Amino acid sequence: MEEVDYRKVTGLVHSTESFGAVDGPGIRFVIFMQGCHMRCQYCHNPDTWDLVNPMATERTAEDVLNEAIRFKMFWGQEGGITVSGGEATIQIDFLIALFSLAKEKGIHTTLDTCALTFRNTPRYLEKYSKLMEVTDLVLLDIKEINPDQHKIVTGHSNKTILACAQYLSDIGKPVWIRHVLVPGLTDRDEDLLQLGEFVKTLTNVQRFEVLPYHNLGEFKWRELGKPYPLEGTQPPSKARVENAKRLMETESYQEYLERIRE
Ligand code: SF4
Repeated sequence: MEEVDYRKVTGLVHSTESFGAVDGPGIRFVIFMQGCHMRCQYCHNPDTWDLVNPMATERTAEDVLNEAIRFKMFWGQEGGITVSGGEATIQIDFLIALFSLAKEKGIHTTLDTCALTFRNTPRYLEKYSKLMEVTDLVLLDIKEINPDQHKIVTGHSNKTILACAQYLSDIGKPVWIRHVLVPGLTDRDEDLLQLGEFVKTLTNVQRFEVLPYHNLGEFKWRELGKPYPLEGTQPPSKARVENAKRLMETESYQEYLERIRE
């Protein structure tokens, strides 16, 4: 079989951010990929949804990595590159190429994913495991543990997302689990408890976080001529955030991990 020249593999890139501080450890160069099949009501990047977007740019993995490396001096011990979206794994060949080139240069790689594309089939896993070989950390969003509520929040089932979480646990891939807390949508006590219980069954979770909803992306919906489903919804109060953290035991998660590893 002809060997792929990773440098020349192309992907549709929505945009990049030079100094990402919330998309993995340390300071990171973040690459936002174009395309997402989810329709999260609180999405702050609806401009990344379409698989084709004249504003996005088709770029080679080598070109993107060269741009990232210009900022390497700011990464310190912890930083590196993160691919986000949209849903980056739609362009899995590009990710494999980009991360393979990055690993050749000793760069820390993080994948931020909603995992909707994940399939527990030999054909898909052949490719996905290749990606995982060159991925140091996965940021996995679990939008809702309750399947019915997940459909309301995103328009899709959470089956593949939970299957992906299980797969990543089985292969021991370091993961940060994140849950966006939206008042009246993803903050029901029984669901939070259940999500906390599910995360405890995984053996690879390094961090479990509650991300309070914000409406900073609302203007993008307007610009695109889309009605914003959460119009009037305010960020959760401090008390609701604390409630979610308490129910899911996110704060004591590190202690919990140390306990079960003893
Ligand atoms: S998965 Fe991310 S990009 Fe896709 S709709 Fe949800 S929040 Fe937006």
